Amino acid sequence: MADAFNAEQKRYLEGFASGISAARMTGGLAAGQSASAPPAEPVGPDAIHIKAQDATIKAGGKLCEQEKWKRAENPFDGHNRLVTEASTGKTPKPEDNFRWRYHGLFWLAPASGDFMCRLRIPNGILQHWQFAGIADLADAHGGGYSHVTTRANLQVREITVEHGQPFLDGLIDLGLTARGAGADNIRNVTGSPVAGIDAQELLDTRPLAKSWHNWILNDRSLYGLPRKFNVAFDGGGVMPVLEETNDIGFQAVRVLDGAAVEPGVWMRLVLGGISGHRDLARDTGIVLKPGDCNKVADAILRVFIKNGDRTNRNKSRMKYVLDAWGFDKYLAAVEDELGTKLARVDPAHVAPRGPMDRFSHVGVHAQVQPGLNWIGVILPVGKMTSDQMRGLAAIASECGDGAIRMTVWQNFLFSGVPDAKVAEVQARVAALGLTTEASSIRAGLVACTGNRGCKFAASDTKGHALVIADYIEANLTELDVPVNVHVTGCHHSCAQHYIGDIGLIGAKVVVSEEGDTVEGYDIVVGGGFGDSPKIGTEIWKSVKAEDCPPRIEALLRSYLARRTGPAESFQA
Ligand code: SF4
Repeated sequence: MADAFNAEQKRYLEGFASGISAARMTGGLAAGQSASAPPAEPVGPDAIHIKAQDATIKAGGKLCEQEKWKRAENPFDGHNRLVTEASTGKTPKPEDNFRWRYHGLFWLAPASGDFMCRLRIPNGILQHWQFAGIADLADAHGGGYSHVTTRANLQVREITVEHGQPFLDGLIDLGLTARGAGADNIRNVTGSPVAGIDAQELLDTRPLAKSWHNWILNDRSLYGLPRKFNVAFDGGGVMPVLEETNDIGFQAVRVLDGAAVEPGVWMRLVLGGISGHRDLARDTGIVLKPGDCNKVADAILRVFIKNGDRTNRNKSRMKYVLDAWGFDKYLAAVEDELGTKLARVDPAHVAPRGPMDRFSHVGVHAQVQPGLNWIGVILPVGKMTSDQMRGLAAIASECGDGAIRMTVWQNFLFSGVPDAKVAEVQARVAALGLTTEASSIRAGLVACTGNRGCKFAASDTKGHALVIADYIEANLTELDVPVNVHVTGCHHSCAQHYIGDIGLIGAKVVVSEEGDTVEGYDIVVGGGFGDSPKIGTEIWKSVKAEDCPPRIEALLRSYLARRTGPAESFQA
């Protein structure tokens, strides 16, 4: 019987409709069924995925490699095998690297022969003892440093294969998890970094982000999507959270008298953001009560799970279902899933959103609570050593409210700092080799991992980003407005180059007739976010990395010479 099963499994993995339900391979076997029994209807939390795969196969589609891996062994069912093999020092095979990502560990060969761990931190907020605890884990199991990511999250690198699971065990001791942080899953849930402390905000995103985080963690059927998925909550405050770059964005808005719904604060639903594919999330016209966000996001996901492309990784994000169907058809399917209609409002009955402050993540800002402040600390393209992290945790504990709030700008904030403690915080941050002040160029500098730790990268993004900042600071002291420079290593666009004022995407530049190449970039300008969302336009291809700083200087000089005044942004 085992041989027969293996033969049938092989046919399935080759993309043929063998008639054997993959539920048998993923724990979805119906009660009383055996592997040799007639095909059974898939059951259990994996059934929604298996049925979608079956439908793809039945329609003549060939499942992509990753879908076959999911069918062969659900990554959660494979956990103990993965741990056992890792404990012997065995390097994960490609399919097991994919499965480890469900648990938050990314094997980074050939860029490096070790794991990177990406955590989950809802709304990007940690307590000081968790922050210090992660530093200790990075010392014990990793390279002794961490990076803040563009999803207000932390990554720890240089974790050897034997140390992967012990690192994850340590996270549990800190009340944290990395479950679902990679592969085809819902990524870290972002929310307004200044939630609850910003005078302008309409709604505190913290409970919403935390509730959605726990909703995901407790429903296995929301893992193993056709592709990764991002959700963000924006509270309407001064600090952008880039919800327009997410598959689902919830934006707090004030609905005015005369609308089809009662006036007050609602969450507006925007859909389909994926800046690397040159698309920003668009307004659906739907508004929700904040308490309904989870069930509506859940329904949106189930429509995606059932209808997303399982054959072509380049076309498998939700955007492509939206493109093929249009918003009306997709939203009708969501309403069918929910069994109810969603409320819509005319945009004329929604108050304009408050202005964003592009420097709000840097330096000292008064909170809505009198006498208290948040203080943004700049990190060199997101990096902190473990010693710095322990020092920063002590500052949060002794001078603030104990929280450390990560932002999508690859930095973090202290909050709840009394006026009398501000100078002490600044001095202690400086003593750690960091700063709470930044130039116009450095405040908006974002860089993905690059080729120091990512196999997809064409260039050393973090290194080049710092060179650009040093060069502009030295040569263009007259720059007096914030300018965002986003440096990304490949088309995956982790640093979201299309929404930067200036965006760079890694490219190999041919420099000889023999085909020798050097690191370089294609350059995009005019992107935007928050109150001026826009996908940038490519103006130069294949610029050598060493030539990028003077090219960027020329762009900025041109802007300074032509603008009508500082109120005119670079994007305009
Ligand atoms: Fe790696 Fe590409 Fe993401 Fe940069 S954008 S971290 S190179 S996958």
